[in-house]
Amino acid sequence: MRVLVTGGAGYIGAHACKALARAGHEPVVFDNLSTGWAEAVKWGPLVRGDLMDRASIDAALAQYQPEAVMHFAALSLVGESMKDPGRYWRVNVGGALNLLEACAAAGVRNFVFSSTCATYGDQDGVLLTEETPQRPINAYGGSKLAIEGMLRDFGAAHGINHVIFRYFNVAGADPEGEVGEQHVPETHLIPLMLDAVAGKRPALTLFGTDYATRDGTCVRDYVHVTDLAAAHVLGLGWLIEGKGDAVFCLGTGRGFSVREVIEASRAVTNREVPVVIGDRRPGDAAALVSSSSRAVNELGWEPTRSNMRDMIGDAWAWAQKPGYSG
Ligand code: UDP
Repeated sequence: MRVLVTGGAGYIGAHACKALARAGHEPVVFDNLSTGWAEAVKWGPLVRGDLMDRASIDAALAQYQPEAVMHFAALSLVGESMKDPGRYWRVNVGGALNLLEACAAAGVRNFVFSSTCATYGDQDGVLLTEETPQRPINAYGGSKLAIEGMLRDFGAAHGINHVIFRYFNVAGADPEGEVGEQHVPETHLIPLMLDAVAGKRPALTLFGTDYATRDGTCVRDYVHVTDLAAAHVLGLGWLIEGKGDAVFCLGTGRGFSVREVIEASRAVTNREVPVVIGDRRPGDAAALVSSSSRAVNELGWEPTRSNMRDMIGDAWAWAQKPGYSG
């Protein structure tokens, strides 16, 4: 099946393209390269287009006639979304609206959407499920929740079958080293931590030690990017088989505090992580941990590398490589 992959030059999108190609699908990447990398597009053509430019979406759909769309492209940083919420609402919601209108017009009937655990907000450490009420506390989560609603409306009105994946914290890199995480600027915990370990940064700043968690630092549920990519192939299969609209949380059911991630890194790299204690980062929930039961039981998802050793190990191996250059 030919799949238009928005954001396919980005971290998660590129891993999804590899998984799609491996499964016999044909990914066509649609990306404005604002945060992605042309070098990460290895499994199909790259269309340079922008979701804020409806004509560029229409042209890509007309040229490639995809049977499905996977929508990864978005601004995705919690901290940045608190400082500039307008940009998040405009780009994420406006871009998704253009894309959905273009899909409706072109008759695309299958849509896989990247949503997030940030749609839940702060929930007192409960294990989050697909049914947990969503109450985002940052503009990133708010914009993604709005798109979930939009997708339901477009599904009903235009017959766009959709699978919504709510990602927890994505980590690691392709175990074969073909693609990996590279953000400019980098804001994510594991790559920043490994940069500090490698001496590329003076230290990791730990954002807050006074949360109501077991050791005072934020707890997150980390998922290996390769496992996440595999879920997308299953999600596409779900739609192809006509199983209808669905929401799946992609987490592991196990949370790690920031201090526990740091501890795990020491075990993998045999090196200390230089750490300085900083203030809380606005918009951060204390704990976000998901049940993966529905994805495992209904979708048949079998995560294999979503353990700290593999996630940090694969990210560490990727960090030794030269990375993308431009
Ligand atoms: N974090 C941190 N220092 C950093 C970056 C992140 O202490 O330099 C913490 C952050 O507060 C959060 C966790 O690490 O609790 C994961 O943050 P990240 O930005 O990787 O992902 P997010 O949870 O925002 O999607």
